[in-house]
Amino acid sequence: MKFICALCGYNYKSKEGDPENGVAPGTYFEDISDDWICPLCGASKEDFEVIEDEDDITDDEEF
Ligand SMILES: [Zn+2]
Repeated sequence: MKFICALCGYNYKSKEGDPENGVAPGTYFEDISDDWICPLCGASKEDFEVIEDEDDITDDEEF
């Protein structure tokens, strides 16, 4: 699953988090505090788009 900022295209990755802004690596997007903003453009969480990515699981099985 991907979380993309609708304004600037920033891609939040839960594996990496956003340590510079108090979000530890491994934090699910849902668990980020509501006052967190996009580190690039300052958009709020509500401005992020959730993109289902079913290919995640099979990434390593491409021929
Ligand atoms: Zn942004």
